[in-house]
Amino acid sequence: MVVVMQEGAGEKQIQGVIDRLTSLGFDIHRSTGVRHTLLGAVGGDKTGVDPRDLELLDGVHEVIRISTPYKLAGRTFSPQNTIVSVGGVPIGGKNVPLLAGPCSVESEDQMEAIASALAAEGVKLLRGGAFKPRTSPYSFQGLGEAGLKIMRQVADRHGMKVVSEVMDHTEIPMMLNYVDMFQVGARNMQNYILLKELGKVTRPILLKRGPSATIEELLLSAEYILSGGNRDVVLCERGIRTFENYTRNTLDVSAIPVIHKLSHLPIVADPSHGTGLRDKVAPMARASLAAGADGLMIEVHHQPEKALSDGAQALTLPMFQKLMKELRLIAVAVEREVQ
Ligand code: PEP
Ligand code: MN
Repeated sequence: MVVVMQEGAGEKQIQGVIDRLTSLGFDIHRSTGVRHTLLGAVGGDKTGVDPRDLELLDGVHEVIRISTPYKLAGRTFSPQNTIVSVGGVPIGGKNVPLLAGPCSVESEDQMEAIASALAAEGVKLLRGGAFKPRTSPYSFQGLGEAGLKIMRQVADRHGMKVVSEVMDHTEIPMMLNYVDMFQVGARNMQNYILLKELGKVTRPILLKRGPSATIEELLLSAEYILSGGNRDVVLCERGIRTFENYTRNTLDVSAIPVIHKLSHLPIVADPSHGTGLRDKVAPMARASLAAGADGLMIEVHHQPEKALSDGAQALTLPMFQKLMKELRLIAVAVEREVQ
C-alpha cells in the first residue's frame, strides 16, 4: 500500500508512520515529492492491517491499498479462466449454458411441463427453489425436501442437472442427495457460517451477489468458499438495489467485464431477478451474453399467471424458445456458443 502524508508533514510525523509500518513487517520505500511525502509499504501482513488505522496516524493524508484483499478469487492467483463442471456441464468455457426453470418447485406436473420444454431447447441445468427466501413470512416458502425429490426425478428423466438454493447450513447433508449445484441466494451472500460449510463440500456453488453488495464484497464471499477448499465457485450478477423503481433491481451488466478482469471465476447473469419483469428479461439476457456472461439464469414457467412465486418475471415457454434463438445468434458474434 501507499501512505500519502499530508502536505507539510514534519519529519517526526513521517518517522512515526515509518515506525508503525516497520513494526507491521513492511519494507518502506520513501519518496519525497514537491508537496507530499509518499511511503510505499511492501511485504508485511496486509491481511491483518486495516488501512483506516493507518489513516488515523498523525500527519497521514490518505492510504491507498494496492493489492486486493481476496487472494484465491483473484486473477493473480489463477491467470487462466476457471471452468466449473456441474455434473459434467461446464460453466466458464466457450459454451454459455442456460440455468433455467421456475422460481419454485410447485408440483411434479409443473416441473415435468417446464423441464421437458427446456430439455428440447438443449438446456442441461434445471433450476428451481425448494427452500424459498421470501420477503414476507406469509408467502409460499417452498416444498422443502419433497420439492428436491420431484426436481431430481424430473431432471434425471431429461438428462438434466439440478441447481437449487440452500438457505441454511444444516440442510447441506440432506441436499447433497439431490442437487448437482448449490445456489447461495442474494440474501445469504454474507452468511459466513453457510459459506464456510459450503467450502467443505465437493459440489459446485452458484454464489449470487447480494442486493447491496459491492463486487469486492462478492469476491470476498467467494473467498470464504474457496479458502475452505471448494474451488468450484460460479458468481452470479442478479441485480442490485438502486434508486430506480421501474425495475425490481438494476442488473449491473458492467459487473460482468469488471469481474472478468478481477477474477478467474465464471460469472453468470440472472436478468429475471435483475429486472423482475418478464418483458425486460430477454433484452437484458441478450445484453448479458454480449457483455461476456459465462451462463444465464432464466426463470421460466408454463403458466406464469399461476406461479406461486415470481410469476411476473417468468418467461412463458414460447418466450423462452424465442430467446434461445436470439442468444444463439448473439453467441456467434462474441465467439461463444449457446446450445
Ligand atoms: C431465486 O433464484 O429464485 C432467488 C431467490 O434469487 P435471489 O437470491 O437472487 O433473490
Ligand atoms: Mn425467483
